[in-house]
Amino acid sequence: MSVSSDFSAVRADFPILGVDLDGRSPAYLDNAATTQKPRQVLDAIHDYYTTANSNVGRSVHTLSMRATERYESARGRVAEFLGAADKDEVVFTRGTTDSINMVAEGFGRQVVGSGDEVLISGMEHHSNLLPWRRLCERVGATLRVVPIDEHGELTPEAFTAQITERTKLIAVAHVSNVQGTVNPVREITAEAHRHGIPVVVDGAQAVAHRPVDVQELGADFYCFSSHKMYGPMGVGVLYGRAELLERMQPINVGGGIVRHVTYDGPNKYYKAPHLFESGTPNIADAVGLAAAIDYLEGIGREQVAAHDLALAERAAAGLRALDGVTVFGAQRPQGGIVSFGVEGLHPYDVGNHLNTYGIAVRTGVHCAVPFIDSLGLTIGTTRASFGVYNTAEEVDLLLEAVSTVEKGFWSNEHPNDRSLA
Ligand code: PMP
Repeated sequence: MSVSSDFSAVRADFPILGVDLDGRSPAYLDNAATTQKPRQVLDAIHDYYTTANSNVGRSVHTLSMRATERYESARGRVAEFLGAADKDEVVFTRGTTDSINMVAEGFGRQVVGSGDEVLISGMEHHSNLLPWRRLCERVGATLRVVPIDEHGELTPEAFTAQITERTKLIAVAHVSNVQGTVNPVREITAEAHRHGIPVVVDGAQAVAHRPVDVQELGADFYCFSSHKMYGPMGVGVLYGRAELLERMQPINVGGGIVRHVTYDGPNKYYKAPHLFESGTPNIADAVGLAAAIDYLEGIGREQVAAHDLALAERAAAGLRALDGVTVFGAQRPQGGIVSFGVEGLHPYDVGNHLNTYGIAVRTGVHCAVPFIDSLGLTIGTTRASFGVYNTAEEVDLLLEAVSTVEKGFWSNEHPNDRSLA
C-alpha cells in the first residue's frame, strides 16, 4: 500500500508542526500517546470562549442557552460519529481512563458479585486493567485474563474458552496501544451476548485510525479520549447502550444531576447522560472534540485508516530490513502503530537518539506492564505511531535514524529501568 500524497495539505492545518526544535522541525511519531491539534479545533475552542462561554443548563440568559446548545450539539456529533442509536447514550467524561472507571464502579458493581468473574484480554493498557482488578477485589470476584497467541494476537476462540457461567463482564481493547493489533471485537461481543454478558470496549487507539460503529461492533460500552483523535485534552466519551446506562449508578454526585433534592427524602435524579455529568462539564473541549470529528470526517475515515496503515507498513518493512532490529506483533501492521526493539539497546537510548533528529516516539512499557512482561520484553519497546500529518519522508528519516543508533546512557547504566510505567 502506498502513502497517498493527498495528505500533504493536511500538515498546514497543524501549527505545531512548524515549531522550531533548536534548528529541527518535529517529526511527530507519538500519536498513540496524544495527537497534535489542527487549527480548526483550536479555532472552535477560541470561538466558543469568545462568543458563547457560560455555564450549561443553568440559566435563561442568551449566553447560557448558547453554551447549552453548543454542548448538546457536540454530544449529537459524537453520537453520529459512533453510530449510536441516540445522543443520550453519549456521556462526556475526562477521557478513556475516566470512562472505564465510571463503568467499573457504576455498572460493574451492579452486575459483578462475590464468586463472579470479569474477563479481560492479555494485552490491556493499565487503564483497562486496574479498574477491573479493583472492582474484583472490592466485590470478591476473580479477574481472568484471556491469553494472547504466539504472534501477540487475541483470537475469538481464546475468549470463548474462558467464558463460564460466572463471567459477568468482559473488557477488551479495540486496538492495542503496544503493537497496534486490531482485536476481533465483533466476534467477541457476539459470543458474549449469546451468554448475556455485556462488553466494555477500550477504543482509545481505534477512533482516530479507523471507522467505528458501536452498534455494528455490538459494544455495550465504548470508551475513548478526545486528545488521541486531534481533539483537545481533558475530555472523552463513555458511550453506553441506553438500557445499560439506566442500570448504571453515578460515581460523582452533585450539581446538575438532580431535579429535586431534600435532606433526607428521595431525590429526583435526571437520567443519562446528565446523571453522569455532575458539576460543570468541560464545555469548550466538548465543542473542540466535535470540531475534531468534523476534521477527521472531512478527510474521510477510510482514507485516514489507509494512510496511517500505509505509513506503518512502510516503517515495519524498513525496520525489519535493518540489522539487529525486531518488529513486534503481527507480520503486517494492522493499525497505525509499530513497536520495535534494537538488539542490545535500551529503548530510552533509541528514543534519545531519535530525538536528536527531531523524531518523537514513545519508549518504555506503554502502561501495559503485564502485557510487555508476557512478551518477554521487560525493558519495553520503542513505538512509532502515525497520524494524518505524517509522511513517507518522516518514516524514511526514522529508518535512517534507527540505523545509526548506538549504545548510550540507559543501556549501560539502567538496563532495567521501568520508572515510567
Ligand atoms: N487505553 C489505551 C489502549 C490507551 O492507549 C490509553 C492511552 N495511552 C488509555 C486507555 C488511557 O487513555 P487516557 O490516558 O486518555 O485516559
